[in-house]
Formats: sequence, structure tokens, C-alpha cells
Amino acid sequence: MKEKTVLITGASRGIGAECARVFARNGYNVAFCYNKSEEKANELKNELINLGSDVYCEKADVTNKNELEKFVENSIKIFKKIDVLINNAGVALQKLFIDCNENDYDLIFNTNFKSMVIVTNLVLKNMLKFKEGKIINISSIWGEIGGSCEVLYSASKSACNGFTKALAKEYGRMNITVNAISPGFIDTDMNKNLTTKEINEFKENISLNKLGTPNDVAELALFLANKKSDYITGQIIGVNGGIN
Ligand code: NAP
Repeated sequence: MKEKTVLITGASRGIGAECARVFARNGYNVAFCYNKSEEKANELKNELINLGSDVYCEKADVTNKNELEKFVENSIKIFKKIDVLINNAGVALQKLFIDCNENDYDLIFNTNFKSMVIVTNLVLKNMLKFKEGKIINISSIWGEIGGSCEVLYSASKSACNGFTKALAKEYGRMNITVNAISPGFIDTDMNKNLTTKEINEFKENISLNKLGTPNDVAELALFLANKKSDYITGQIIGVNGGIN
């Protein structure tokens, strides 16, 4: 078993899966959950094992408190110490606010925010025992500047940003850092519903004139997990290619 462990929510695809790969390549055991993409989760598990990591992977819908808590508790039982938590699981919803209903609100907030609160509460207790830990929340640029037709999503990510800053203040003295990564437009399934025309329009507003990759986000997460970033906490750090 490797010395350090990262726990990632929603890592069967996209940014979460890439974080799992990058951390495994850099000497971490990986505990991760998934919901619908079982085949992809199993493929990833094998890939991480081949990279030399110990892996615990469990189906846990993050909107289901019991499943989520069981996943975290099992991960702690197996690895004893969680060094890094990446709250990544998330869903987007492109819809006019006027057309949104309570089910939309529940889906977005339970997936993107409530799950973060539940997991962090459990993992933090483990980190406090060891008096060290790194918490990394995957937010979004929309949480900072607001996105039209993504009002609920933007609000859930603003909640994530407030949570990050306040938690960092509360647990800084216990040697636990809390930061959020705020990606712009990252090329994952989350954006697969967009047409080429829409993607090109987005690119026009990005200084680097290209989409980001999951690896761009994962490398920052790895840095935020490293000792080299020990003096960074309470920050919302953009990975967005320079969005205008
Ligand atoms: P993605 O490619 O759609 O992947 C989403 C991941 O979250 C999948 O592994 C999915 O697992 C998991 N997930 C979703 N709902 C879940 C649930 N109820 N329970 C457990 N797992 C669940 O999305 P992504 O682009 O990688 O997004 C990852 C994070 O980055 C999200 O928080 C998102 O808001 C944020 N973000 C993304 C972008 C972007 O442009 N892509 C920009 C800003 C922020 P299953 O498939 O197994 O259900």
C-alpha cells in the first residue's frame, strides 16, 4: 500500500477520473465512488491498480446519504488515513430559471453541494485525528461570475465557494487547507450537448482560444495536495484559459 490516500467523489469519468490517474501516478492510493458509469469505473480501477495503487471503488449515488456515508466510512476503514479529499461529483443543468422546478433544485444542490457537506464532515473528522489534510472542492467559474441559463448550477457553485472560504478559516489552525478549483470550459461529457458552433463561440471569449482538459484541472489538484502549497488556503483558483 502507498503512503498517501486521496478520496474522490464521482471519478468514473471526466475531471474526477483524470484526478484519480494523476494521483495514482504520483504515489497515492485512490478511493473513489461513481453512480451510473459502472463499466468505466471498473476500467479505471484496473488502470489505477496497474499504476501500482491500492484502490477502493464503490457505487455510491452522492445524493443518497446512506450510500455516500457508507462509501466514505469504508474508505476510511480500508486506508485508515485520508490525506486528500477531492469533492468533484457534479451535474450541470442548462435551463431558463423560469422553467426550473423543485426537482431541479434538489438534483443540483444535493449533487453539487449537499454531498460536499456530507463527505467533508466525515473526512474532516479523520483529518483532525491526524492534524493534517488537504480539501479540494471542484467549483466552477459560474459560481464566481454567474451563468445565464445555469442559475441553479451557478448558485450551487457559489455555495461551494462560500463553504470553501469559511471552512478554511475554521480549520486552518488544525493544519488543514481548503481550496476550490474553479474551472472554466473543460472538454468533458458535461459539455457534450453543445454544438460545434456553440463551442467556437465560447472559445472566442477564452484568451488562450481553446478548451481546457481534465488534466489541466487534475495537475492543479495535485499541486494543492502537495506540501509545496501548504501556505495556500481559502482560495478559489481559476483554471479557465483566461475567460474574458
Ligand atoms: P462529467 O464528465 O459529466 O463527469 C461527472 C462525474 O460525476 C461522473 O464520474 C459521474 O459519475 C459523477 N456523478 C454525477 N452525479 C453523481 C452522483 N449522483 N453520484 C455519484 N457520482 C456522480 O463532468 P466533469 O466535467 O468531469 O465535472 C466534474 C466536476 O467539475 C463537476 O463538479 C463540475 O460541476 C465541475 N466543472 C466542470 C466544468 C466543465 O466544463 N466540464 C467546468 C466547471 C466545473 P457517473 O457517470 O458514474 O454517474
